[in-house]
Amino acid sequence: MNTDIAIIGAGPAGLALAAALAGSGQRVTLLERAPEAAIADPAFDGREIALTHRSQAILREIGAWDRIPAAETAPLREAKVLNGANPLALRFAPGGAGEPLGRLVPNQLIRRALFETVATTEAKLVAGRAVVGLELGAQGAVVRLEGGETVRARLVVAADSRFSEARRLAGIGAAMLDFGRSMIVARVAHEGAHEGVATEWFGHGQTIAMLPLNGAMSSVVLTLPPAEAQDAMAMPPEAFGAAVTRRYQGRLGRMTLAGTRHLYPLVASYAHRFVGRRFALLGDAAVGMHPVTAHGFNFGLSGAEVLARELGRGEDPGAVAGLFRYASQHRAATLPLFLATNAVARLYSDDRGPARLARAALLGAGSLLAPVRRAIVSRLMDAPAASQA
Ligand SMILES: Cc1cc2nc3c(=O)[nH]c(=O)nc-3n(C[C@H](O)[C@H](O)[C@H](O)COP(=O)(O)OP(=O)(O)OC[C@H]3O[C@@H](n4cnc5c(N)ncnc54)[C@H](O)[C@@H]3O)c2cc1C
Repeated sequence: MNTDIAIIGAGPAGLALAAALAGSGQRVTLLERAPEAAIADPAFDGREIALTHRSQAILREIGAWDRIPAAETAPLREAKVLNGANPLALRFAPGGAGEPLGRLVPNQLIRRALFETVATTEAKLVAGRAVVGLELGAQGAVVRLEGGETVRARLVVAADSRFSEARRLAGIGAAMLDFGRSMIVARVAHEGAHEGVATEWFGHGQTIAMLPLNGAMSSVVLTLPPAEAQDAMAMPPEAFGAAVTRRYQGRLGRMTLAGTRHLYPLVASYAHRFVGRRFALLGDAAVGMHPVTAHGFNFGLSGAEVLARELGRGEDPGAVAGLFRYASQHRAATLPLFLATNAVARLYSDDRGPARLARAALLGAGSLLAPVRRAIVSRLMDAPAASQA
């Protein structure tokens, strides 16, 4: 099998790149381990993805946004960070009554919309077989699939998750940061109204976030030590609802579990290099963010946009200059937030006295420093400026 660009992984990042390459003149082949049915109609995975305005624009441009039913997305009007019992909250809200900060969209629907978009393009899909080998030469690459078949490509893009096997096969290391915590995500119905406000509450021994969905429904994101998380996963649904109500101190009234629970290990990763000979990393395989700042897929999308632009410039998609431009632009866009997110996540999950004092000070300073908040809101909205209440 011959192709110009082989994309390993038909997750949201790989699919977004394939969609963005439509019309570029490059032959694209997606190689995916999961069976086709699982990516054409993905199961609910608990993730509600906060999409920035820029990400929505990219999805619109590649033809995927209108495939997501608007009624299934929810506006994120404001975000608040709470620290223990401290009444000072760090607020992030756009000024005026206009645009929300972003929109929450179930990951399942993003993936389905991207799959449908790619199905309208010339891209080929080989599903149900994992990539198990990789040879990267000066003139081209050979990808080996489970079962022995090979694919020859002029460029290989690996978008095969933060635990990327292709990254390892290409000899590229990554900084892996294991937070030693697990994250449970699930939908909960509640009595109170959330008013479109997301909260991230750093309590002692737990972090609990509530993401506002449509109606009296939120997505709870509960970060716990792994053994406690296992216990919470095993609880009967009523007991889980009661536990979340108690952990959230009844701020939204009584809560009941509304669907399945999903468990994720909290591991962040950052590849040492984003490109190599006839090779590039994309999505979580390049930058695996801690979810607290909700930027993983937003970075996956902006990376796909930049890479597609570079690959569309010339004849040879493996040309070094374009790959380096992608790598330096993507690193500049992602590294500061990756480092800041990890520092915040570590500080807030540390229950020792000095850390508690430091975060109280940070929260106090943040609530006073309007310019800092303005900068963060602008970043969320990808707008040049957003006025701050
Ligand atoms: C709880 C949670 C909440 C999140 N919230 C947000 C948010 O609010 N905003 C945000 O922007 N991001 C968020 N994220 C991050 C976001 O979900 C990820 O960044 C995104 O899913 C990464 O997409 P990807 O395509 O790079 O990787 P993945 O989704 O991991 O897909 C990788 C694909 O590669 C395939 N694959 C793996 N190995 C092989 C192989 N050897 N051969 C062939 N195929 C292979 C897999 O089957 C899979 O289909 C969140 C993540 C979590 C866990």
